[in-house]
Amino acid sequence: MYKIKSFFIILLTALCLNVKSQQIIASSEIDPLEVILIHRAAKIYLKDTNVQIIVKNSPLYPGLEGMTQQIGPKLYSIDIAFDLKNKKERKWTILHEFGHVLDFYLGFLSQHPPRWMGKKIDHRLPWNLRPWEISADNWAAELWAALLDEPPPYVIWNMEN
Ligand SMILES: [Zn+2]
Repeated sequence: MYKIKSFFIILLTALCLNVKSQQIIASSEIDPLEVILIHRAAKIYLKDTNVQIIVKNSPLYPGLEGMTQQIGPKLYSIDIAFDLKNKKERKWTILHEFGHVLDFYLGFLSQHPPRWMGKKIDHRLPWNLRPWEISADNWAAELWAALLDEPPPYVIWNMEN
């Protein structure tokens, strides 16, 4: 009986600790440095400690380097193309996808139903004109400057009036 009791106390403590920290759940083939990068981004930009992000390599559609999904209000998954090998481009892709997580979290982007800033998403828009993609690239540039000590692989030009 005593043993069972202490087991439950340990279990409860573990659950409480879990609730109090952001979780990055990464599959084993993800470089630990990439996990640290997402963890740092989440710590600084997503102060909510109940957010969970699943990160894994996946066979994505050809031409797609990353994909982010909103599984629940505070649960997201980031998939990186398994054949994307260049370390710098992987970091950029991770920060771009994390930008989608931020926009989901902030309520700018929604997956169910697909909306950007409250308006229905038009999938016919070319990639470079999709405002949610432009936003994710802007996040990637900002996060890169804040978290990494090397020049980014891409420069973002904002063509505003
Ligand atoms: Zn994107």
